Amino acid sequence: MRRLCLLGVSGSIGQQTLEVLRSNPQLFSLVAVSVHQSIEILRLVIKEFSTITHVNVGSLEDRENLRKEFPNLVISYGEDGLKSIVTLGTIDMVINAIVGFAGFLPTYEAVKSGKDVALANKESLVSGGEIITDLLKKNGNFLRPIDSEHSAIFQCLIGEDPRSIRRLILTASGGPFRQKNREEIARVQPDDALKHPTWSMGAKITIDSATMMNKGLEIIEAHWLFGIPYDQIDVLIHPESTIHSMVEYIDGSIKAQLATPSMVLPIQLALGYPQRLFNNHHYLPLEKLTSLHFALPSLERFPALRLAKWAGTVGGTLPCVLNAANEVAVHSFLEGQLEFSTIEEIIEETMHKHSVILHPTVEDILHSDAWARAKAHTLITIRRK
Ligand code: MG
Repeated sequence: MRRLCLLGVSGSIGQQTLEVLRSNPQLFSLVAVSVHQSIEILRLVIKEFSTITHVNVGSLEDRENLRKEFPNLVISYGEDGLKSIVTLGTIDMVINAIVGFAGFLPTYEAVKSGKDVALANKESLVSGGEIITDLLKKNGNFLRPIDSEHSAIFQCLIGEDPRSIRRLILTASGGPFRQKNREEIARVQPDDALKHPTWSMGAKITIDSATMMNKGLEIIEAHWLFGIPYDQIDVLIHPESTIHSMVEYIDGSIKAQLATPSMVLPIQLALGYPQRLFNNHHYLPLEKLTSLHFALPSLERFPALRLAKWAGTVGGTLPCVLNAANEVAVHSFLEGQLEFSTIEEIIEETMHKHSVILHPTVEDILHSDAWARAKAHTLITIRRK
């Protein structure tokens, strides 16, 4: 029985994780959960999963209200509360489904205290990849990806010698605007960007998928997860989203992982590995696949890919700055305060103004994140004048 702490239970990954737990009650026990604001969903989860003993919420007010309602639970709030639930002695594994940089510290604390981690929060590795992978090496615990591309690569690598890898090939749907040119993109509104062709996801990741910054972040995530240099990580646009990623070996062999686009598979693999769990509604009808398409993405058309490779190759605090500036720019776009086509410009300008710290500490990461947010905000404000 694996005893779990699930961060971000109200989001898309959090809810699909609950599906996996419902199907496998003999394997997993849900001990702790967190939500930022969605208290209604949290109430339902507490009532459904009687094994929960610890809960974390975003605000003091929500904690006080819930304490009256659920006097038998230990209820905490904020960052310190998150730290307390990911390091609990009664859990074995943390599933981090928090959106954005807010997920970094919980991942760090969980890994530091020797917990295994199933990671849907790619920003943890983008911002603090070096710190987290060093800790994993030292402690001997593991971190498994919930991201579909990285889950695919993880599966393609099983049983292989890392020295025989020629390159990793991350596939990308290309997002909802892959057919539009730069001028058409300039007119895109938040509602247009929130329609994704194959995956149904949260707002932030949907915009990231439209700019392909999502793929950029995934390049950095792959570098840290699999220890592969950036010049051996490529991206291919694959609109069908049937192949979730591939590994090419030095003998010319390419291994791919195919499945119906659903996050349930990567989630249950990350939670259950080395066991593959039964899954009765996600089989891929291969006989209906008439064609699979691949194309190289244009770096001019998708500058976010170039920015991410640049950030990753320089390393240090630059990927953290890339991520923070992106979060601020995407938020401003969703609020109607920034044009879609300006998102990458804000990120690039912020990166140019940053003095990179190599081999950063946790404090350096937190400081660079805060610095980049303030800088990106300033750049956006200047443009609005
Ligand atoms: Mg992905």
